[in-house]
Amino acid sequence: MLIQRNTKHMSLRGRRPSRMLRAGLLLLISMLALQGCIQPSSGGESTDTAGETDKTFLYETMNYTYKTDETGFLQYIVTGMDAQYLVLANKTSPLGADYIPDTVRLTCATNPYNQRDETLNSRAANALYAMLSEMAADGITDIFVTSSYRSYDRQQSLFYGYIDEEMSKNPALTREQAEQIVLTYSAYPGTSEHQTGLCVDFGTNAEYNEVGEVLTEYFEETAAFRWLIENCYRFGFILRYPEDKVSVTGYTYEPWHYRFVGREAATEIMLRGLCMEEFLNELN
Ligand SMILES: [Zn+2]
Repeated sequence: MLIQRNTKHMSLRGRRPSRMLRAGLLLLISMLALQGCIQPSSGGESTDTAGETDKTFLYETMNYTYKTDETGFLQYIVTGMDAQYLVLANKTSPLGADYIPDTVRLTCATNPYNQRDETLNSRAANALYAMLSEMAADGITDIFVTSSYRSYDRQQSLFYGYIDEEMSKNPALTREQAEQIVLTYSAYPGTSEHQTGLCVDFGTNAEYNEVGEVLTEYFEETAAFRWLIENCYRFGFILRYPEDKVSVTGYTYEPWHYRFVGREAATEIMLRGLCMEEFLNELN
């Protein structure tokens, strides 16, 4: 039910950048294939040390290059497909109130308009710093973190706060109806990925100046977005809620939301046009 509602909501969204992205990724994959960098899974060498499967992953044959010195950061970016970074939190696999990850305070730029401390899993935080410095090396510095770890309790108070807001805006609504509206833009406690401490939402000054707020579709128009969509996997991050996967993720398109999964999984997910749910299904 939730999925249908979100799909409906989605139809209002713009489509052009995603199509361009997919075309770009397909082109990249074809080029790699032509150069013999990608081997078909049937003919792949059995370099997979993960165990029982004979799957050949794209990341195993990738040649990752960086402008900035990543020597100290690779230990964070490359996770060896560690399950703790592949934790799933969605509407059908909610986290419990007792899922409380260890987090550290972020030292990168955070939202200057709300002056809030942001915290994240320390490995994801280091991968994020590496990504931001590479981005800066490419000339993109207008970017900040506007949301990161959010506890179960915080999500709970946000969620029920939104319901109260909707009901005071429109007193004719029943609580049920208000909840349905809130579910189109906020998550039930336990179903927000922000509870994992492994994801961030980005904003930019350009967006704030143009729209007066962040976490808007305008993020797609920024240089930061164009860079992230092409490069985030090299640092272990994925676009978590793609426009064409709403029916699988159960969440509307969020060009600003990036999830840390480690470079291996991120490469498969981003370059093969999967979403996290699809990749996890493939793994199992
Ligand atoms: Zn988010």
